[in-house]
Amino acid sequence: MSFESLGLSAPVLQAVSEKGYTQPTPIQEKAIPIVLMGRDILGCAQTGTGKTASFVLPMIDILAEGRAKARMPRSLILEPTRELAAQVAENFEIYGKNHKLNMALLIGGVSFEDQERALERGVDVLIATPGRLLDHFERGKVLLNDVKVLVIDEADRMLDMGFIPDVERIVGLLSPMRQTLFFSATMPPEIKRLADRFLSNPKEVTVSAPASTGKNIVQGLAVVPEEDKREALRRLIKDQDIKNAIVFCNRKRDVAILQGSLKKHGFNAGALHGDMSQPARMETLEKFKQGEIQILVASDVAARGLDITDMSHVFNFDVPFSPEDYVHRIGRTGRAGRTGHSFTLASPDEGGLVEAIEKLIGSDIPRVEVPGMDAVAFDPSEGRGRRGRGRGRPAGGRGGRSGERAPRAPRREREPKPEAEVQAERAPRAERPHREPRREARPQEPRQHEPRQHEPRHREPRHEARDEPRHESRHEPRAEGRAHRERRPERRERPSRHDRHDRDEAVPMGLGDHVPAFLARPTR
Ligand code: AMP
Repeated sequence: MSFESLGLSAPVLQAVSEKGYTQPTPIQEKAIPIVLMGRDILGCAQTGTGKTASFVLPMIDILAEGRAKARMPRSLILEPTRELAAQVAENFEIYGKNHKLNMALLIGGVSFEDQERALERGVDVLIATPGRLLDHFERGKVLLNDVKVLVIDEADRMLDMGFIPDVERIVGLLSPMRQTLFFSATMPPEIKRLADRFLSNPKEVTVSAPASTGKNIVQGLAVVPEEDKREALRRLIKDQDIKNAIVFCNRKRDVAILQGSLKKHGFNAGALHGDMSQPARMETLEKFKQGEIQILVASDVAARGLDITDMSHVFNFDVPFSPEDYVHRIGRTGRAGRTGHSFTLASPDEGGLVEAIEKLIGSDIPRVEVPGMDAVAFDPSEGRGRRGRGRGRPAGGRGGRSGERAPRAPRREREPKPEAEVQAERAPRAERPHREPRREARPQEPRQHEPRQHEPRHREPRHEARDEPRHESRHEPRAEGRAHRERRPERRERPSRHDRHDRDEAVPMGLGDHVPAFLARPTR
């Protein structure tokens, strides 16, 4: 199918062709004609499928006629993060270059005054994160009753981040006489219920996740002791032909430490995490896009939806807590038909998390060896190894999507740790990532355990990416974590790598990061 057959206007088609697209993606093929008809859409698609253009292109044509009044936007696009909102705005600029549409971007970290001025001029397209939009609304700077087209993008992320009450409030401020386009990568029951409330006789459009079907991402996973991860990462980076790469960390504090460590070792590395100011984030992103930064160390939230078409590598410094995050992370590479590579570093206690990912993606992640380092086994008590499958093994052994194996480099002496790492390791216990005691590299016999009951994963709201936190939430330990501690009383007080308290998104409660060392010491 061609773009010409979708019903888009000539100026939009020209912009698309100048962008270099020759064929619509499946979501574009399915959604664009329906949006142009004025119908609501329930779209199940994630970043990387071309979903942004599937609503931006027809919206440009819908909004081409008519004029916006001051402070009364004609359309509204809600995005969970600033970065995603900025990317959608970029898309409007590219595809709308042959139109004269006014656009405003309401995101945190940017001055209210500039945004107010833009609203005053009248906007055809308002792109916003929920928190900042409500702030403007409460200041009386924006009225939403003239919105004719509403897009709720990445609804499941909104849910994860605790934004749904804000989204509900915003939708309550809109006229029911509107067209609503609702997109989510997954459709859990809560999201489906929301969609039922917000949408009117929607057409359902589903496209499969690119990472779950894409054969063009060569994946690999290496099991290494936690304390050797930095060295393992450096070795993998040196071993690979890297154009540009993202290194994902589960915690924002690790982002800064890892970036410092990579820089000390001579790598061209930048960092992206939730504590950075918006201008600093934008500057880093721009440098990364321009190739001035080769390796970007980032947290999930900060890097959400990063749209860099030509990224050669993704590294997971930690196994993500949520299997869906794995799919999102590796989906940053292997885009637009190019081959991408993703490597995951798992510590021996991350077997359970790996197991959950492999269940979700329906295949094993091929095991690779880090050049010059011995593979270790997953801890048999941490899920994966219980079935005796945890041995670090070369790729191609079983299952897996790819038969590629990381070539081994000649064995070298271990590099000395730079001062920043030594300092980080000397930091009080509560301020540094928990590390398992070093295990022998030799194979371990799987211990016999009762099969562990799988318990539903509890998702906590993420607040980091909010413009300003609105709701405080006390973080219950994960259901899985609770059950785990009940089963294994001897580990009760030990801080686990899987605890989410210092995740990028978590709001520090009580003593926050400043827990005195004596309180964090394990009790027997
Ligand atoms: P999205 O899912 O909207 O984040 O888009 C993922 C990537 O695909 C972006 O880099 C887009 O520029 C690109 N893209 C979108 N539509 C097309 C298309 N029809 N052909 C080729 N690339 C596209």
